[in-house]
Amino acid sequence: MSEHPVVIALHGGAGQTRASQMKPSLLAAYRQGLEDALQRGRGILEQGGSAIGAVVAAVTVLEDDPHFNAGTGSVLCHDGSVECSASLMEGHTGRAGGVAGVRGFAHPISVARQVLEHEHTLLFGSSAEGLARARGVPECDPKVLITSHRRRQWEQIHLHEGTLDDFTVDDTPKGTVGAVAMDAKGHLAAATSTGGLLNQLPGRIGDSPVIGAGTWADQQTGALSATGDGDILLRLAFARRVMDLIELKQFAPDDAIQQVLEQVAFAGGDGGCILIDPLGEVHMLHNSPNMLCGSINAVGTMHILI
Ligand code: ASP
Repeated sequence: MSEHPVVIALHGGAGQTRASQMKPSLLAAYRQGLEDALQRGRGILEQGGSAIGAVVAAVTVLEDDPHFNAGTGSVLCHDGSVECSASLMEGHTGRAGGVAGVRGFAHPISVARQVLEHEHTLLFGSSAEGLARARGVPECDPKVLITSHRRRQWEQIHLHEGTLDDFTVDDTPKGTVGAVAMDAKGHLAAATSTGGLLNQLPGRIGDSPVIGAGTWADQQTGALSATGDGDILLRLAFARRVMDLIELKQFAPDDAIQQVLEQVAFAGGDGGCILIDPLGEVHMLHNSPNMLCGSINAVGTMHILI
């Protein structure tokens, strides 16, 4: 019998398309991906594994799933390349790691984990790649991360010399992925991984690799992974802003998230997040038309919300 309930939740990105407008086959693929990732993370927790191990494992499943915008299936930058970003944080130690602009790694969250284990907190591009290489994280040909769907999206913009605003290039969510978990010791962790925004300038850094913006975990307020308009989430220090309302103003988690999402909307964007509080309760809110997400609660019941 574990001391604490083991709980895991994850998201597959905030998006503009409601489930009712998506093809059934796509919906089924998202559902399957979320279920597989939840089961993988939950399995680790049930075997006594750590929260940080569980969120890494769950995110890895989604990075391998071409339907999500992380690892394989990442969106393309303006120059046609794929640059991935990821971060993770452990609540009871305060250890954290983030990487941005990483090329040629199928599992950017594993690259970020090397930073967590290292003395630094945030590494960019070749520095992050060099660290991961030195520590044996498997590399891949950057091209294998590009799916035909993402290539078509990019071509639709570039062949027409248009911008994202001119064309309907996507009927899918943005697809960033994230996970939060509580392990049997009550420890919390959060992880986020993304290919960023379609047609972003190479070198752009959004919220996802930044601790306090896209990812946060501590034992007092909870573990959070965000998704949405990353430039706005970054400028607002989204994750910390939510946690500050909980920690300093005693807001309930749902109210804190709601309030900060209103600030995101006021700034002209949208998004959402998943949060596990120190009691193991899961909170999943968004003000975007859609957010793919799901959880397995303390008694083992799976909920998928699409
Ligand atoms: N926040 C991510 C970014 O701006 C995108 C997303 O969550 O879909 O890179």
